[in-house]
Amino acid sequence: MIDFHSHLDLYPNSLEILPIVAQKNSFTLVVTTSPRAWRATSKVFAGYDNIKVALGLHPEIIEKKATERDLLISSIADTKFIGEVGLDGSETFTKTFSLQISILADIFSECQKQGGRIISLHSRNAVSSVLNLIEKYPNAGVPVLHWFTGSASELKRAISMGCWFSIGPAMLKSSRSQELIQTIPPDIVLPETDGPFATLNGEMIYPWQTDTVINFLDKIWKSQNIGACECVKRNLDSLLAKI
Ligand code: MN
Repeated sequence: MIDFHSHLDLYPNSLEILPIVAQKNSFTLVVTTSPRAWRATSKVFAGYDNIKVALGLHPEIIEKKATERDLLISSIADTKFIGEVGLDGSETFTKTFSLQISILADIFSECQKQGGRIISLHSRNAVSSVLNLIEKYPNAGVPVLHWFTGSASELKRAISMGCWFSIGPAMLKSSRSQELIQTIPPDIVLPETDGPFATLNGEMIYPWQTDTVINFLDKIWKSQNIGACECVKRNLDSLLAKI
């Protein structure tokens, strides 16, 4: 299994499940919500080659963590993986939207300066704004849109701009999302859980529980000559080779 967007550090029993994740998953990207959390989590999760900790600043808490902005930008030199970062255009965060844009622009600019990074992006109610910024910094690396909830035309634009997509079980609950996922080329898709924020049938989802995604992809990728599990493994290898 692969989980390309997990908040493993935020499970109540994260240290207990850490070795299980390392054993059950071939690869897990642990996204963090602030640069200080990234520093702490990187230390605690060190020693597992197949668990990578990404440097993040979650847009939902950007006001509270804005003091960590300099730390965030200066730390980009020290990691290949950025996330969770992005924009949230929901009404609750209208007040911070311009701050969100300014910080994400700085992140992309620094990623570009450092030669490119793999960036796990939040884009709820803000896909067009996120894409506009990606367009401004074409050498920032590979943007991976996590839990995409935009429109069909936004999806088309994102694909044409070289974005990748991480897809979790929670996305499959919506038939609209299911339809959109079918229009994404198979070679730019990775599984994710977004646990423990996302749930599976009302229960906590763990980083190895991406079977529903793999089963769904197997159904819609019938024309591929390899199974979805093998396909996403290849995708991961090709993504990691880019940075
Ligand atoms: Mn998340």
